[in-house]
Amino acid sequence: MKDLRYVIIGAGMAGLLAGIKLLERGEKNFVILEKTGALGGTWRDNRYPGLTCDVPAHAYTYSFAPNPDWSSYYVGGPEIRRYFEKVAADYGVMPYIKFNSEVTNCVFDETTATWTISVADGSAHEADIVVAASGVLHHPKIPDIKGLDSFKGHAFHSARWDDDAKIDDARVGIVGCGSTGIQILTALTGRAKQIVALQRSPQWIMPVPQFDYSDAEREAFRKDVKLIDEIRYNKDYWAAIIRFTDGITNIDGPEMAEIEELCRQNLETSVKDPELREKLRPNYRAACKRLIYSWCYYDHVQKPNVYVETGGIAQVEPDGVRMKDGTFHALDTLVLATGFHADRFIRPASVIGRGGKTLDDSWAVRPTAYYAMAMPDFPNFFLLNGPTGPVGNFSLIDIAEAQWKYVAQLIDRLKDGNARAVEPTKEAMADYEDRRIAAAKRTIFGSGCTSWYLDETGVPASWPWSYQAFVDAMEKPNYEDFRFAA
Ligand code: NAP
Repeated sequence: MKDLRYVIIGAGMAGLLAGIKLLERGEKNFVILEKTGALGGTWRDNRYPGLTCDVPAHAYTYSFAPNPDWSSYYVGGPEIRRYFEKVAADYGVMPYIKFNSEVTNCVFDETTATWTISVADGSAHEADIVVAASGVLHHPKIPDIKGLDSFKGHAFHSARWDDDAKIDDARVGIVGCGSTGIQILTALTGRAKQIVALQRSPQWIMPVPQFDYSDAEREAFRKDVKLIDEIRYNKDYWAAIIRFTDGITNIDGPEMAEIEELCRQNLETSVKDPELREKLRPNYRAACKRLIYSWCYYDHVQKPNVYVETGGIAQVEPDGVRMKDGTFHALDTLVLATGFHADRFIRPASVIGRGGKTLDDSWAVRPTAYYAMAMPDFPNFFLLNGPTGPVGNFSLIDIAEAQWKYVAQLIDRLKDGNARAVEPTKEAMADYEDRRIAAAKRTIFGSGCTSWYLDETGVPASWPWSYQAFVDAMEKPNYEDFRFAA
């Protein structure tokens, strides 16, 4: 078996997974290049109060590393970050991570079938295989609001939380009410004097249960992993995922009707004040924007120290925010929970493949990859959770694990020495993308709202078929869709 050299880009959830899986295969010739000084990806970047994963904790774990110690059904970011740190240590990948190593360039040499990966500190690595596990939502989107720079208090993006900002007993404005904005709001109502939720579009809220695990339950989980599996693979939890992915792909079917009804009922029964209820009622279909799963948002948004402002922002002034109708909100702190540039992936690193083809050229219309994993002209370059992959209210760890299973089978073909390079054919890529776009336009994401799920042309950028279809597709590569070069 040929010994291959690997570079993994990013020490977040997917990069750690790739490292662990390589070690499992007995492969040690790899390095994980991490741009910052710590692992954890999104769970390192995001430190905002209220940060929680809205996938149940026991389901948001690697399948091979169940965690009996989760404190509750849904857990906060710091606990998740500690989980990844523990798994990285337990599975022996720490020595393979090079921190503070931001990748700037990846260049493929066709004659040697070798990638050269350059790092910002001037160093370079050679690899036969690159695994780009650089995440999706990591480039903060700063809104173009007039006067933002003039604000005298602290104004900052949610993923760049400013610990010096005044929160306790302060007047806090939160721009945005996506998954992030609503989590921040729920965490701050008990601390801030006044919260102004600057809401451009309301969101549908799916009610979910939340509860703590007792010490006795954790002890039982430690003794019997089957008890954890009963939660991770709980049939109701999986039925909800299947309902969700069936619903988004069959938007007039019974599953979507059920989702819409659950969200509508939640709004009707939870929000008492009719005026507030109407402010919080979206004018688009549930799940068009990413559904928010929350057990407490409606409780918190009805607290006396919260005001939901729905007029558009005219400008930020030194002491607060002026609305288009002239209303002024005096603020000490302004949190920009305004989302991310979701089309970046590994960029701004430059990636140059076969024949000088650049990733920017390849993604000129929209970022895409064959099954969210590989691209023509970029041999031996694999993405985990790359463009067009499944997104939604389920664990991206499961998605990355399924992709790795597929990638590993392609790598096996290189290890047996018969081929040096593999990439999807142009025909297979075009066929995948044609089918994907046609189906994507029919999903709920394309039903008439704006969201980060849409690409610049307004086409939903994600996997448009069922969850099971993705899992099935990942079982075994369609080898005829790949070009193997000797
Ligand atoms: P987001 O879903 O893109 O939401 C951004 C919010 O900012 C929206 O409410 C948007 O309003 C608003 N906004 C943007 N620019 C604005 C402007 N110029 N003026 C006023 N409002 C503006 O971003 P996010 O909340 O950070 O969430 C991004 C994704 O991260 C989520 O969808 C999810 O995938 C992930 N996430 C997951 C969890 C979890 O628990 N698993 C938690 C947090 C985040 P419009 O809707 O009108 O555009």
